[in-house]
Amino acid sequence: MNTTIIEHEIKTKQFDSIDGRYGEYGGMYVPPILEDKLLNLAGFFMETKSKPDFETEYLYYLKTFVGRPSPLYYANNLSKIAGSKIYLKREDLNHTGSHKINNTIGQILLAKRMGASEIVAETGAGQHGVATATAAALFGMKCKIFMGTRDAERQKMNVSRIKLLGADIILTNEGRGTLKDAVDAALGYYIENPDVFYLLGSQVGPHPYPTMVGHFQSIIGKEAKKQIIETEGRLPDNLFACIGGGSNAIGLFTDFLYDQNVAIYAAEGGGDGPILGSTAATLSLGKPGVFQGTFSYALTDENDNIYPTHSIAAGLDYPGISPQHALLKDTNRASYYLITDAEAIESFKLLSKVEGIIPAIESSHAVALALRVLKNKPNDISIINLSGRGDKDVERDLM
Ligand SMILES: *Cc1c(COP(=O)(O)O)cnc(C)c1O
Repeated sequence: MNTTIIEHEIKTKQFDSIDGRYGEYGGMYVPPILEDKLLNLAGFFMETKSKPDFETEYLYYLKTFVGRPSPLYYANNLSKIAGSKIYLKREDLNHTGSHKINNTIGQILLAKRMGASEIVAETGAGQHGVATATAAALFGMKCKIFMGTRDAERQKMNVSRIKLLGADIILTNEGRGTLKDAVDAALGYYIENPDVFYLLGSQVGPHPYPTMVGHFQSIIGKEAKKQIIETEGRLPDNLFACIGGGSNAIGLFTDFLYDQNVAIYAAEGGGDGPILGSTAATLSLGKPGVFQGTFSYALTDENDNIYPTHSIAAGLDYPGISPQHALLKDTNRASYYLITDAEAIESFKLLSKVEGIIPAIESSHAVALALRVLKNKPNDISIINLSGRGDKDVERDLM
C-alpha cells in the first residue's frame, strides 16, 4: 500500500465525487438528448437526497420492507478454516435476496417524486430485475426489465419472479446476450421515452448514477461499522467484497475509505483466468476508456473494441466498472484480484457446508479472496460482504 498517496487523498477527501468525477474518472459521455435528462436527474438527486422527509421515507422502507439492518454474523466455522476472525455482512437476508434492493428503493422513491410514468431497468443475474420489479409493484408503477437471452437462460428462476411481480421482461438478442447488451437496450428505450425513469442497478454508467447508487448502497458499510464496533470494540483490519459493476463493494467500503488502517479488497469475476475474452476482471486486466457513458476501466482491445467476457457469475459478467473503483485502484486505496470460476465454486460449496449459508455465486468470489488473503494473519478481524443468497444458483450444475 502506498501510504503517502493515501494520506494525501484522505486529507483532501479525494475518494468522493465532485460533480460526478472521481479524479479523472466518471463524467457523462452521452448524446445531448440524454445529457439534458441526466443533468436534470443529477440536480434532482442532489437536492432531494438529504431532505429529512426523503431520508425518513427511504429508511422506513429499508427497515419495514427490506428487513434492515442486515445482521453482521460471526462465521465461527469459516473463521477456524481461515485462521482468523471473519464476519459476514448478511445482504443475502434482504428481501429479494441481495443488496440490489437498497438501491432500487432509493431510486424508485426519487422517480416517484419526479413524477415518472414508467420504470425501466437492465438486469444480468436477474437480481436487479427482481429488485426493480418488486419496488415497482410496491409503488404501483409500470415496469420494463431488459435482459440478455443468455442470462435469461442461466437465471430462469429470476425470469419467473420478474413476470410474477407484474413487470414486462424484454429479452435482447444483441451481442452475447449478457448484461452489457441489456444496458444498451434499456438506454435506447430511455432515450426514446421522455417520462421514463431509468433505474440503473450498479455503480456504472454516466453521472449521476455512480454517485446515486454509491449513496444508496452506503447503508451497508454504515451499519457494518456500527455493528463491528459494538461487537469487537474496534474497526476491522480487512474488508472483502465481490465486484461486478461495483455497487455492493462500494456500499461496504464507503464508510471506511478514510480509515487508513482498514485494508480493502475486491474480487473480480475472473472466469477461466487471466485470458482476455474468457474473463470479466475489468480492473485487473482492462485499461482506461469510455464505455457506456462513463470514463473508467474497460476490457477493450487495441482498437477500443470490447472483448467478450466470461464469468460463471452473471452478476459479475460485465466489461465495464465503476469510476470510483477505478480511482481506488489507481491510488492503491483498494486492491483488486481475479478469482476464477473454479475458485468461486469451491467457496460456494465450502460456505454452504460449513456455515449453513448458501451464498450467491457472485458473493462466493469474495469468500475465495478472503481465504487467499487471510493466510498467517491470526489477529486480524475481517468483514466479507455476502452480497446475495445462492437460491438462484443451486439448480445449475456447479459440482
Ligand atoms: C448484481 C450482483 C453483484 C454484482 O454487482 P455489484 O454492483 O458489483 O455489486 C454481486 N452479487 C450479487 C448477489 C448480485 O446480485
